[in-house]
Amino acid sequence: VPRSRSLGELALIDRIRSRSEAPARYVLQGIGDDCAVVRPPAGHSLLVTTDFSLENRHFRRDWHIPRSIGHRTLARGLSDLAAMGATPLAAFLSLALPRPLARDAKFLDGFLNGLLELAGLHHTPLAGGDTAESPSPELLADIVLLGSAPAGRELRRSTARPGDALYVTGELGGAAAELEALAAHPARFRRAAATDRHPHLFPAPRLAVGHRLMRQRLATACIDVSDGLSTDLTHLCQASNVAAELDQALLPIAAGATLQQALHGGEDYELLFTAAPTARLPRTIGGVAIHRIGSIVKLRRGQPLLTLQDGRRKTALTGQGWEHLQ
Ligand SMILES: [Mg+2]
Repeated sequence: VPRSRSLGELALIDRIRSRSEAPARYVLQGIGDDCAVVRPPAGHSLLVTTDFSLENRHFRRDWHIPRSIGHRTLARGLSDLAAMGATPLAAFLSLALPRPLARDAKFLDGFLNGLLELAGLHHTPLAGGDTAESPSPELLADIVLLGSAPAGRELRRSTARPGDALYVTGELGGAAAELEALAAHPARFRRAAATDRHPHLFPAPRLAVGHRLMRQRLATACIDVSDGLSTDLTHLCQASNVAAELDQALLPIAAGATLQQALHGGEDYELLFTAAPTARLPRTIGGVAIHRIGSIVKLRRGQPLLTLQDGRRKTALTGQGWEHLQ
């Protein structure tokens, strides 16, 4: 039903506009005209990623504080840019708000605080978007991110080669372990402070690592771990037409997490990447640990795509897709 914007929607847009930044280096026009105007650096390709955050699938409003919902909405998109070695240029946010939320200044301010704090940390201006009061009782936030990378240098998931070493940043399973612990005592969701380490509530996208891997040509292929190691490694292997062997003893399992959570838990937003066997990787990049966890091998007919080696025992591993809150 086409209709003009309500006063509530206009007030909302003003509220967001007043919190967004003045034109930035690559954003010549942000919120306030019919389109944003973005000029990527000379010789760079434009990289675009878009992610839905759906209430009761990616977050629960009776659990997650607004600041965490805002942070996580942006973190998912930033992590995709990190996976390709891209530098963020601008973010675009669209919100479909259930009627009561459209008038809930406390919720909106908390959501924007979380989103804009993370955006500020990664110099990503909010350059546009849309808001509407929705007839649905559930909140929907859609984030579009523009990034750039020197043309032809972006990291892909399809370029791993047999013989490459396999690496992951940070730790695995932390987000799934934190979610499980919080879900057991939901009152704790409200007590979490953004300053502590909270891999589920406030994940840290690995933009500095992705950028360095790209710039120094350290990685042969890269993907971010959004759906869980087993699933995202399956994506990388399928795209590259290779197989992978994981060494269980080398997996950096987060404190409090189980092996199952490290293998299959989603939303860690670490980078999973491959490098030539002769490449010398630093132990940390920008304070983030780099762990070798296995190798890329030739894909052989009848052999599993992923195997997990535990001492002498080898087991086939299948990608077990992460169903966020289910
Ligand atoms: Mg991704």
